[in-house]
Amino acid sequence: MSTKAYAAQSASSPLAPFSLTRRDPLPTDVLIDILYCGVCHSDLHQARNEWGNTVYPCVPGHEIVGRVAKVGTAVKKFKEGDLAAVGCMVDSCGACETCKSGLEQFCETGGTVFTYNGPDRHSGGVTYGGYSENIVVDEAFALKIREGADLAATAPLLCAGITTYSPLRHWGAGPGKTVGIVGLGGLGHMGVKFAHAFGAHTVLFTTSPGKAEDARRLGADEVVVSRDADAMARRARSFDFILDCVSAQHDINAYLDLLKLDGTLALVGAPEHPLPVSAFSLLMPRRNFAGSAIGGIPETQEMLDFCADRGIVSDIEMIGVRDVDAAYERLLKGDVRYRFVIDMASLKGSA
Ligand code: NAP
Ligand code: ZN
Repeated sequence: MSTKAYAAQSASSPLAPFSLTRRDPLPTDVLIDILYCGVCHSDLHQARNEWGNTVYPCVPGHEIVGRVAKVGTAVKKFKEGDLAAVGCMVDSCGACETCKSGLEQFCETGGTVFTYNGPDRHSGGVTYGGYSENIVVDEAFALKIREGADLAATAPLLCAGITTYSPLRHWGAGPGKTVGIVGLGGLGHMGVKFAHAFGAHTVLFTTSPGKAEDARRLGADEVVVSRDADAMARRARSFDFILDCVSAQHDINAYLDLLKLDGTLALVGAPEHPLPVSAFSLLMPRRNFAGSAIGGIPETQEMLDFCADRGIVSDIEMIGVRDVDAAYERLLKGDVRYRFVIDMASLKGSA
């Protein structure tokens, strides 16, 4: 079926209307009419080929919420009219130990297929993401959303939510732990909400002093302006865990130096260029430098249910699809409060 979308045709061209073809639902597929799609900094990195692997045309978007319009003959989890969501993945091998343990993002056979710019096993081409009218996905990669949720503010949970929830759970953010979140953007603001909800003493590091009040409202117990060297020095060796959500170059050693003995700094931010690490920031006192990527499907559902139970959603600014390039420019300036979400109804009037 022919589907309206917005695509980047090259690393330097603005996003523009594009028509793509979705497969007819196979027995275990659902067709989802997309209502809202969040704008992740990864969309910008990939639309502009900052990770060096973009296939054009590129239709970004992996924070997708919509309604099921059609189900394949063998679908069990969904019926027509149900709410459904899709995050960063649409496929994996399903057979390796890692997939079987619910960590499909780390499929051992390299079989993880990302929602866009991934090798589409069905079409033989590339996957196209959520800046589009609809998406067809195997029900195993579609998540359940409860009726009554603020759907636009729920969309960012599918990437910004799970990408922060998963490492905070993995490294035990909770009561008695001092946890730092670096960067108050889409990921960072969800990181603050989750670290607070899990009961950790939550400290937000920001380059934007103007975000301090918001950070406290979102759940931070303390705010440190990272350009203030004295404020940073006062926090040396005081953190159990730091989650780095920064999209651009920055000094990673400045944060490693804040870890206690055996503390961990996990990167989720994925800047274009490598971040130099000083050996001495790790050696003394025996620190860990780690990374994390989104979360598996079972944990994504767990996170969505956790959020639904506690009324946690994203703080968003709604935009039309024509505003995506302007939103990207604002992301580059750190000017986001705290996630742009595209109202997909705006696609209808586009050429
Ligand atoms: P975002 O909304 O643009 O937020 C990034 C924040 O980083 C900014 O708001 C800003 O916060 C801070 N920042 C920006 N430039 C900086 C600089 N030069 N120095 C220091 N701080 C700076 O981005 P996002 O959507 O949250 O994504 C963040 C990163 O995570 C991106 O690289 C994205 O690709 C990556 N990501 C990774 C995964 C994964 O699975 N690992 C998943 C999704 C996204 P302040 O104003 O508070 O300083
Ligand atoms: Zn993302």
